Amino acid sequence: MTEKRMEFKTETTQLLDLMIHSLYSHKEIFLRELISNASDAIDKARFESLTDTAISEDGGEGGFKIKISIDKEAGTLSIADNGIGMTRDEAITELGTIAHSGTKEFIEALKESKGKESPELIGQFGVGFYSTFLVADTVTVLSRKAGADSKSGIKWESTADGSFSIDDIEKETKGTEIILHIKEDEKGYLDDYEVRGLVKKYSDFIEHPIAMDVEKEVDSKEAEGKEAEGEKVKVTEEETLNSQKALWLKSKSEIEPSEYNEFYKHISHDYTDPSDTIHYNVEGTSEFTSLLFVPATRPVDILYKEYQMGLTLYVKRVKILEHCEKLLPQYLRFLKGVVDSSDLPLNVSREMLQNNSQVDVIKNSITKKALGRFKELKDKEYDRYVKFYKEYGRLLKEGLHFDFERREAITDLLLFASTKTEGDSLRSFEQYVGDMGEGQEEIFYITATTIEEAKNSPYLEVFNEKGLEVLILLDDIDDMIMGGVEFKGKKLKSVIKGDLNVDKEETEEKKELEEKFKGLIGSVAETLKENIGGVRVSSRLKDSPCCLVPDEGAMDPNMERMLKSMGQDIPEHKKTLEINATHPLLEKMAALQEADAESELLKEYTEVLYDQALLLEGSKPKDSTAFVNRVAKIMAGSAVEPS
Ligand code: ADP
Repeated sequence: MTEKRMEFKTETTQLLDLMIHSLYSHKEIFLRELISNASDAIDKARFESLTDTAISEDGGEGGFKIKISIDKEAGTLSIADNGIGMTRDEAITELGTIAHSGTKEFIEALKESKGKESPELIGQFGVGFYSTFLVADTVTVLSRKAGADSKSGIKWESTADGSFSIDDIEKETKGTEIILHIKEDEKGYLDDYEVRGLVKKYSDFIEHPIAMDVEKEVDSKEAEGKEAEGEKVKVTEEETLNSQKALWLKSKSEIEPSEYNEFYKHISHDYTDPSDTIHYNVEGTSEFTSLLFVPATRPVDILYKEYQMGLTLYVKRVKILEHCEKLLPQYLRFLKGVVDSSDLPLNVSREMLQNNSQVDVIKNSITKKALGRFKELKDKEYDRYVKFYKEYGRLLKEGLHFDFERREAITDLLLFASTKTEGDSLRSFEQYVGDMGEGQEEIFYITATTIEEAKNSPYLEVFNEKGLEVLILLDDIDDMIMGGVEFKGKKLKSVIKGDLNVDKEETEEKKELEEKFKGLIGSVAETLKENIGGVRVSSRLKDSPCCLVPDEGAMDPNMERMLKSMGQDIPEHKKTLEINATHPLLEKMAALQEADAESELLKEYTEVLYDQALLLEGSKPKDSTAFVNRVAKIMAGSAVEPS
């Protein structure tokens, strides 16, 4: 067979035109596409060599290699491999058609974008080889199938004019060489510095060496292998451009901890070793490898919107995207690392990852794996886990809200200070529930800004007296999130909110007291009706005279203060004033009320009582001046009962 001219399919021609247009500013991707094809071809040859003895298992002399050559005079850049190669038929079918289904729809979509840049559309198709026409006006492919003894090969050539030629040739070496006749205004790609940069940027971790002949100036004597100091001469040396270190593809047992650490520092720009490494691969319907790191300390900007989360996505060792946020749930955004997928198309774009089921599979797997690893740390290396938790516990809690499916797993990972912990030690739900006394149905918690503040809170009086443990929650999001949490069927209950019924006996007693203080409760409620939602006898208080309690579903005072300080409008919610029926002050007020339901003094006392409740919840009195004057008056004894 000799030279033959053939037409591209119409679709291919259309696609070529459109693609050249829309990928205009992403031309440089041509090199990574060709390198990736070459690498695939080598992988195939290596694979075939397992069963076909005619194919060398190591690529023959010099080993498997991708070789880039620049010929400035001829204006060509070529990429050669010693991989599987193509037969004449294969070249015609593989390089002359676009095999993807949905090509028509794709062309329509491209047309619609009217030549606007639309790499995200291109991203949905492996345009691969055709991207060469972004920078070349003529592309020549020389190929010889691996395994064939004769030197017969083929030459495929096209100028992207709707047709290509195919011819039989003699080819010395096995494999494929793609020769790009670089366009006049793209000559920058004939610069070895430029090429080296592109290889580093996109293909550094390609497993096979990517070599290039570079001219170097050396001493003439040095060039001859003698001691230096001669004239300068130019020599050509073969340089390997990529580090080839696809660390994540090595088996775990072959990797030194220091290698992991160096790699982490390289990708994260961190100076410190990571505190943990998770490395695993998945085979089967979905195939990918994932290498994840937990930074030793949490990034300072992690709670800000500007924080760039995400993993680096590789597809078959080709770097595709950095900061790929779709591979992780938000609450694991502290993880750094890489994912290398065998399933995603090489030209996958950020937009395309949006609703991609493969990506969801990876994300789910990583989430499960990471949570599993944290659990393992908690169970087996508790001290190390506590360190981890202090950095990332706040973030894990976000998952309670956003990852409903894994709520239980996340709940299990949480740790807290409590009224029973000393210093900075922490307790888990497991420990709390294990130590719960009989009849306790709920897990009690208090939100506060410091452990100190929580431990001194009047809301804890009855709990302390009864020896009931209360968890101390210090994170800003606790109030929003923890209310709905359950552990082993035990609900969480804020000691600050809602009515408390610690035990049955007490409930009975409370009913009697409510009856006894009925008059006072009515008067106080009337005086403070602008400020409070109601008055009741407290089950919380033992020492303090009173406190303010939000309803069960309401926001807790810490949260309310925080949001107010951020200038947010908080819907008005009137709290309940709880009174301590065993406190002498209340006895006195009840007596005042009985003597004279309209007593001015009782009203003064009521106002002070309310201000005290405000102070106890951490707020300011309604009117500081009025409060101080009232207290001063009472202290000076001038407010004695009128005779
Ligand atoms: P893709 O790589 O996504 O299949 P391409 O357009 O890049 O799409 O390549 C089309 C086909 O051409 C490949 O699937 C392969 O069969 C063949 N091919 C391309 N480059 C080479 C090469 N260097 N060696 C052998 N075959 C190749």
